[in-house]
Amino acid sequence: MSLIQNHSLEPQSKRRKLQQETNYSSSSSSTNCGHFFVRYGICCNCRSTVGKHEGRAFDYLVDGLQLSHEAIAVTKLLTTHVTCLNDKKLHLVLDLDHTLLHTVMVSMLSEEEKYIIGEVGSREDLWRFNGGHSSEFLIKLRPFLQEFLKEANEMFNMYVYTMGSRDYAKTVLKLIDPKRVYFGDRVITREESPYVKTLDLVLADECGVVIVDDTPQVWPDHKRNLLEITKYKYFRDKTRSDVEYSKSYAEEKRDESHKDGSLANVLKVLKEVHERFFKDGVEKELKNDPKDVRLLLHDLCTPQCGF
Ligand SMILES: [Mg+2]
Ligand SMILES: [Zn+2]
Repeated sequence: MSLIQNHSLEPQSKRRKLQQETNYSSSSSSTNCGHFFVRYGICCNCRSTVGKHEGRAFDYLVDGLQLSHEAIAVTKLLTTHVTCLNDKKLHLVLDLDHTLLHTVMVSMLSEEEKYIIGEVGSREDLWRFNGGHSSEFLIKLRPFLQEFLKEANEMFNMYVYTMGSRDYAKTVLKLIDPKRVYFGDRVITREESPYVKTLDLVLADECGVVIVDDTPQVWPDHKRNLLEITKYKYFRDKTRSDVEYSKSYAEEKRDESHKDGSLANVLKVLKEVHERFFKDGVEKELKNDPKDVRLLLHDLCTPQCGF
C-alpha cells in the first residue's frame, strides 16, 4: 500500500521508471509486493502469479479471492478493533446440524416418525427438500431459532460454519435467512474447510469471536472460543438405535422447550458476554483493558452452568 502512495508523490517520469522496475522485479519473483489481494492466482497490485501457499482462499466472500497471511491479520484486527467497537458488535460463528436444526433422510425415519411427512407444509419448523440422487430430506428447525437469530444479530456479526456442502448450506439458509439479513455471504462450508473448522477463515480478531457448536472436536485450535451447545436430536438416529434406545422427540410428538431450551440458554450467555465485553466503554477497551471473549466465556461457563 505504501508503494502506491509513494508513487503518487513522485514526478510522472520517475513514476513510470519505478513502475517498470516494479514490473520487472515482480516477474523475477523478487518483488517487494506482499501480494495482499489475489484474484484467480494473480496479485491485484503487481500482477504476479501467486501460489496458493502464499495465503488463504476466501472464495466464500468473493469468487477467486485469496488474501495473504498479512492481509488476513490486518483485516482481522481492523474488523474487531475498529468496526466492531464502533458498532458494539462482536462476531458469532454458528454451526448448523444439531446446533440450529436437525436434518434427516426421509428413508431413515422410524415407523413411528413417518406421520411427520404429512405435517410438512402445515408447520413452519419443518421442511422437505430433495438432496439429489433421489434422496429426500426433512429439516426440523430447533425451537426458538428465529428469536435467537433476531436477538443475536443485534449483538454479533454472524457466520454460518458447517461441515455440510455449499448446496446444503444454501438450502438451509433459504429457510432460516431468506432475506440474507443475518449471514449475507458469511457462510463457510466443507468446500473451504474439509477436515476441521478454523477461525483463520473468519475475518475477525479471535478475542471477539464466539463459536456455538455441538461438536467440540472439529475445533482443535479454538476451544476457548467455543460455547458448546447440547446436540439437538429431533429424529431417531437409526444407525445408533442399538447403542441407546430412547424415543426421539418426533416419536413422542414433543420437542425441546421453546423458552427454556438450549438456544434460549445460549442466548443468555451471549448477552452476558456481549454486555461484559462492552461494559466499560469503548475507550477503556482500546487503551488499558483489552477484553477477550475467551476469558469471559471461561468465567461464565463453569461446569455447573451446564455449558
Ligand atoms: Mg453440528
Ligand atoms: Zn503482488
